[in-house]
Amino acid sequence: MKADNLNFCKAQSGNLMAGDQVSMGEGVGEANRRDGVEALCSYDVAIAGSGIVGLTLACMLKNSGLRIALIDAKPKTAGLSQRRAYAITLLSGRIFKGLGLWDQILPQIATFRQIRLADEHSSAVVNLQPADLGTEVLGYVGEHGILVKALLDALEAAENITWFCPATVEQVRYQPDAAEVTLSLGESPDPSRQQIRTRLLVAADGSRSSIRQWAGIATQGWQYWQSCVTAVIRPEQPHGNIAREHFWTSGPFATLPLPDNRCQIVLTAPHSEAKHWLEVDEASFLAELERRYGGQLGKLELVGKRALFPVQLMQSRRYVQSRLALIGDAAHCCHPVGGQGLNLGIRDAAALTQVLQTAHQQGEDVGELRVLKRYERWRQLENLVILGFTDLLDRCFSNQWWPLVALRRSGLRLMRRVRPLKFLALRLMTGLLGRQPELAQR
Ligand SMILES: Cc1cc2nc3c(=O)[nH]c(=O)nc-3n(C[C@H](O)[C@H](O)[C@H](O)COP(=O)(O)OP(=O)(O)OC[C@H]3O[C@@H](n4cnc5c(N)ncnc54)[C@H](O)[C@@H]3O)c2cc1C
Repeated sequence: MKADNLNFCKAQSGNLMAGDQVSMGEGVGEANRRDGVEALCSYDVAIAGSGIVGLTLACMLKNSGLRIALIDAKPKTAGLSQRRAYAITLLSGRIFKGLGLWDQILPQIATFRQIRLADEHSSAVVNLQPADLGTEVLGYVGEHGILVKALLDALEAAENITWFCPATVEQVRYQPDAAEVTLSLGESPDPSRQQIRTRLLVAADGSRSSIRQWAGIATQGWQYWQSCVTAVIRPEQPHGNIAREHFWTSGPFATLPLPDNRCQIVLTAPHSEAKHWLEVDEASFLAELERRYGGQLGKLELVGKRALFPVQLMQSRRYVQSRLALIGDAAHCCHPVGGQGLNLGIRDAAALTQVLQTAHQQGEDVGELRVLKRYERWRQLENLVILGFTDLLDRCFSNQWWPLVALRRSGLRLMRRVRPLKFLALRLMTGLLGRQPELAQR
């Protein structure tokens, strides 16, 4: 059955933003007051959360013929100044390429052609090379602000996207044919309210997703006994564009190469130890890092501030219900080992886009459960495999129990010699295993 068009607020199409703010009722052609809340405007898809995952979805849906609302509690430009860096998988690179953003992103990020795995209790170092995978490179490392800038630039002229920003989703009411979303617009102490109606609400509002919780969607998982300290350093010696994952008993220690011979480090350790490395003076912190590198990178300089993140594993029992889909950290979170979390979210966005576009072309209602189930079937199990793999890595290596120490020593030796093992691990961690979204094949 072809879905009827919802009754769109004509003036709400396109970009309503003026200085990052939508004032109540601004530009609303068919405004009406209901329960003291201004204006019911209608969209096909409302994306709550414009982190990288939400922005990527919006970008994929531009020019789709669907009317999109993009909502975030923070100002539109907030992400531009974030310098935190992520490992970006080959698949995410291909997705950004399919979106036409890669020419802008690639010159500003680092490309790595070697991954070096080492264990505190073993002399066996595993070097993974592009030849092990049959590709030219193994991955990339890019800063948050660079990805956000490319995505915002691409959304600049999109006529089917309306920004609500800063605007917080305060309440959602699910009706059979739409979700009614109440937004609090502008800043305290004088926010105003607006209601929008959407066929589909996509929760891209992060790991503590209020929308997931209000919908009563249960999650499975746990908080790790560890936290992560992140920092950017500049070593005296060239980093050689090598991504390093060094497994210490306290937790994995990752070093990701960045442009200008900088490195993003992610040091995982039990909470109290991680807190110590956050608070200890700069010289002691750098001395610890130099000790861990065994002098290989020479003297280190700290660039910017250290930050501390708690770590959790979380999988939502459902990714969808009628009129609602979860993507990114709102649906799942994993241990940072292997740098997978954001990449899974980008993949969710690509899968959901493909499902929605196909449904829309076939005249289906994009918010119907049977449509959304196709996305859930595609992504829930694939994400679970990565969640399980990162958990296994962390638990196996953050451990001094001697049978496990012996097992992983043999495992690393085996990995050095058995090429299919390297191939499989690399396929999994670069996103090349599993169903590939069409966008990544362009
Ligand atoms: C130490 C560490 C290192 C990591 N390294 C990597 C890595 O190398 N590679 C990788 O792939 N992943 C990595 N990750 C994971 C990655 O950071 C996350 O998976 C990713 O940032 C999630 O993005 P998101 O867009 O889903 O959510 P978020 O970035 O959390 O965005 C959520 C957005 O929703 C908005 N929002 C929330 N609530 C509301 C509301 N009620 N109304 C309106 N807006 C709302 C917020 O303002 C925010 O903009 C790492 C994680 C950690 C902790």
